Amino acid sequence: MNTLTDDTPVVDLGLRFDNSYARLPDRFHARQVAAPVAKPRLIRLNRALADSLGLADGLDEADLAAVFAGNAVPRGAEPLAQAYAGHQFGNFVPQLGDGRALLLGEVLDRDGRRFDLQLKGAGTTPFSRQGDGRAALGPVLREYVVSEAMHALGIPTTRALAAVTTGQPVLREGLLPGAILTRVAASHIRVGTFQYFAARDDQAAIALLIDHVIARHYPDLAAAPNRALALLEAVMERQAALVARWLHVGFIHGVMNTDNMAISGETIDYGPCAFMDEYDPATVFSSIDRQGRYAYANQPVLAHWNLARLAECLLEQMDPDQEKAVAMATEALGRFADLFRGYWLDGMFAKIGIAAPAEGDNTLVQGLLDVMKDGRPDYTLTFRALCDVAERPDETGPVRNLFLGMEGIDAWLSRWSARLATDGRAPAAIASAMRAANPAFIPRNHRVQQAIDAAMSGDFTPFHLLVDVLSRPFDDQPENMALTTPPEADERVLKTFCGT
Ligand code: AMP
Ligand code: MG
Repeated sequence: MNTLTDDTPVVDLGLRFDNSYARLPDRFHARQVAAPVAKPRLIRLNRALADSLGLADGLDEADLAAVFAGNAVPRGAEPLAQAYAGHQFGNFVPQLGDGRALLLGEVLDRDGRRFDLQLKGAGTTPFSRQGDGRAALGPVLREYVVSEAMHALGIPTTRALAAVTTGQPVLREGLLPGAILTRVAASHIRVGTFQYFAARDDQAAIALLIDHVIARHYPDLAAAPNRALALLEAVMERQAALVARWLHVGFIHGVMNTDNMAISGETIDYGPCAFMDEYDPATVFSSIDRQGRYAYANQPVLAHWNLARLAECLLEQMDPDQEKAVAMATEALGRFADLFRGYWLDGMFAKIGIAAPAEGDNTLVQGLLDVMKDGRPDYTLTFRALCDVAERPDETGPVRNLFLGMEGIDAWLSRWSARLATDGRAPAAIASAMRAANPAFIPRNHRVQQAIDAAMSGDFTPFHLLVDVLSRPFDDQPENMALTTPPEADERVLKTFCGT
C-alpha cells in the first residue's frame, strides 16, 4: 500500500482542490494512493457534472482514464481512506472504513460549493480486511445509472462523474470485469463516522467532527446554543425529507446500514438498490436482506433507528449531564414520525394533483394506496396514468387496466375527480403539475440488469441510452416508451446483489 510521493504521476484536471478532511487529525483517515490497474478505459464521463465542477475541457482521454482509474492523481488531490464504523443489519462493527474507496480530495466548484471526489474500487487500503479493494463492472454501472437517475428525479444523492474499466478481472461468483466509479458527494461523512469515534470514546474527535459537518453542511447552526442537539435535529430533518422522496418514486435502498447513511442528507451507497415495479409495501430486492429489514415501507422506521444511533454518539456533546442529554435526544427523535409523515404527505398530494391540501385529503391518499395494495398495479405507471386522467377525466381505461380488479380503483377515481373539481385550476394545469411530480422513466430493475448484461459482453449502448433517457425522467419521450414498461414475466429480476 502506497502513499503519495514525488513519483506518483499527476494530471492537472483544472480542478480547484481544498482538502479539509485531509486536514483533520491522522486518526480520521489513512493516507493512501490507488493501486494502478492494467488497462484503464473510459466508459463514460459525465460532461455536465464535470463542467459544473470546473474540470478542464479538451483533456486527453487517456489522461482522464488514468486519473479515474487511479493510475494518476489529479493535481491538488491528497488521496486517503476514511475511517468509519457502522451497524450492519443491526450488528455493530467498530471498524469498517473505506476498504475499496479513496477520497481524492474536495473540489470547489464554479459557485464555490465543496464536493468530495472519490474513487470506488481503487484497490486495497488499511480498511480492506479480507476484501480485494476492487469493484466489478455491474455494480459500478448500477450506481452510475441509479445515482444519476435519482439526481434527475430531484432527490438528494451522490453523483457519478466517471466510470472506467480496469482491464483486470475481479473474482466474485466467477471472474468479472473490473471497473472503478468516480463519485461526487457533498461529503462521505456517515452516521458510522460518528460511531467510529464514539466506540473509542474519543470525544475530542466527535467535537471536531461536529465542527466539520456544521461548517460543511449546516452552516446555519454555527451559532446554535446546543450544536450537537441542533445537528441531530437538522440531520433528522434531511433524512425525513430524503426517505419520503424515496417512497414517492418507489426507491428501495436495500442496505440502510448506519455506514450507508450520509450526514449531508444525500442518498449514498447504491448496492442492491432497486425501484419497485408493482406496488407492494413489503418489497425487498436485496439478496442479503432476508428478514426484510430494509423493505420499501420499512425505510422510515430504519432511518429513525439509524438516527437514534447518531444521537447516542452525540449525547456527551449535548450535555455533561447524561440524563438531561438523553431526555433532549429522546424528545428530538420523538418528532421524527410526524416530520417524515409531513414530507411524505406533501409529496403524495403533489402526486395526485392537490396543490392546497384540505380536510380529508390524507384519507384520499391512503385510499389510493389501499386499492393499489389489492390491485397490484405498477407503481410508476399508475401515477403517470393518473396525470392523463386529470386532464381527460373520462379516459380512465389506461389506469383501470393496470389493476387486477377494478371496483376499488373506480370508486377511488370518482372520489378523486370530485376532489379535483374543487381545485380551481384548469385540468391541463393540474395534469402538467402532476407530470412534474410523477416520472415516466425510472431505472427499472430489469432494464438496469439488461444494460449491465450487454456491457459485460462489450456493448455499452443500452447503458448509455439508459443514462441519457433517465436524465429527463419527467418528459414524455415517445421514442423510448419501451423503457417505461414493467418487466415481462421472463424479464423480472427479483434479487439484487451487493456484488461489490
Ligand atoms: P458496503 O456494503 O458497500 O456499504 O461496504 C461495507 C464495508 O465493506 C465497507 O467498509 C467497505 O469498504 C467494505 N468493502 C466492501 N467491498 C469491499 C471490497 N471488495 N474490498 C474491500 N473492502 C470492501
Ligand atoms: Mg457502504
